[in-house]
Amino acid sequence: MMTRTGIGYDIHRLVQGRPLILGGTTIPYEKGLLGHSDADVLVHAACDALLGAVGMGDMGEHFPDTDLTWKDTSSMVFLDEIYRKILASGWELVNMDATVFAQAPKLSAHKPAMARNMAQCMGVSDDRINIKATTTEGLGVIGAGAGMAAMCVVLLQSPYPNSAPEAARGVND
Ligand code: MG
Repeated sequence: MMTRTGIGYDIHRLVQGRPLILGGTTIPYEKGLLGHSDADVLVHAACDALLGAVGMGDMGEHFPDTDLTWKDTSSMVFLDEIYRKILASGWELVNMDATVFAQAPKLSAHKPAMARNMAQCMGVSDDRINIKATTTEGLGVIGAGAGMAAMCVVLLQSPYPNSAPEAARGVND
């Protein structure tokens, strides 16, 4: 069994007049994240971690924000498409661990729904995904409420000894 790991990071600005969507969950709040898609910063970090693990580049290469196709798209569409490519290249998720950095609102009550949404999107069990949330104790741009960030790491496994980043790239071509 081969394993590979990947890391993802993303940050988006918080603005008035947008829904706040994290892990595919709409969270009641006075502001939302600004972006070309729905700006789901948690799912974007997860997508980059998955792409990184199989050497498939980053989200910007796959879903450029200059492409109107992805305007206001649910980021779960990106996660679904990326994970399909990962499965097709012989890999599967062992576990995903992510942290959302947000000064407000309190996210603890929403963490199980975020994990469940992302697990269902990829067709894996909920216990493979762990979502954490933290404030930055009022420090920096996150602490000032100007935006939210997320970090994610994933571990993938493949039963195929010949699975390599080159194989994954081939699927993407
Ligand atoms: Mg993003």
